[in-house]
Amino acid sequence: MPERPSETVLVDCADGPVPVAVQFRERKRLSISVHPDGVVTALAPAHRSIDDVAAHLRRRQSWITRQRRHFEKYQPLPDEKRYVAGETHLYLGRQYRLRLCEAETTSVKLVGRFFHVTVLEKEDTRSIATAMDGWYRLHAEPIFHDRLEHCLDAASSLRAHPIQLRIRPMKRRWGSCSSAGTITLNIDLVKAPLHCIEYVIIHELCHLRVHDHSPAFYRLLGRCMPDWRKRKERLESIVLR
Ligand SMILES: [Zn+2]
Repeated sequence: MPERPSETVLVDCADGPVPVAVQFRERKRLSISVHPDGVVTALAPAHRSIDDVAAHLRRRQSWITRQRRHFEKYQPLPDEKRYVAGETHLYLGRQYRLRLCEAETTSVKLVGRFFHVTVLEKEDTRSIATAMDGWYRLHAEPIFHDRLEHCLDAASSLRAHPIQLRIRPMKRRWGSCSSAGTITLNIDLVKAPLHCIEYVIIHELCHLRVHDHSPAFYRLLGRCMPDWRKRKERLESIVLR
């Protein structure tokens, strides 16, 4: 039997119409997936009419809205720093002002309430940005590894597999995980308070056991970190711009 071509259904959600790409398969039930980038896809039984599928998707519109909002909130805002003197930059949830000084060698130091940056030319914002990024990376690594250990001690049932930690810039998420046991954390997370860093780590560790955001996932999250909602709210209040 030739494969039935995929179709797109527009579902009216609370935040506006959402296109859902529907693929038809030999299967019994219709399943809907909301992806971290907000894209919604569905797998439908090959014999079901598109009207029937559309009606089903519309009945699930509030669930689709909730899932998309969850991912939206979980995403950091883009960084639009200018790297000029006096500008504030975050580290572990605290604001530090940028103090620029010209010198032969480039360096970044945290002094009191200031990020003290020396650079050849104060107007060379690209060099300042590179130096700051390097400083954040240097400090993120030990902090993230330390918090991961702390989280695994606090929720020892999650210490099931060997866990790899990767740190890199991420445009749209604070963290992610792979089924092979690799947790990736956004380097910008080092700008958030420690208790928020722990929340993202626990969230991803729980995903190693439960891959979606089902009730089972939230039950596990609640057992491992009873106050996760408070931490999540604080994380959502962080503006990186
Ligand atoms: Zn998640």
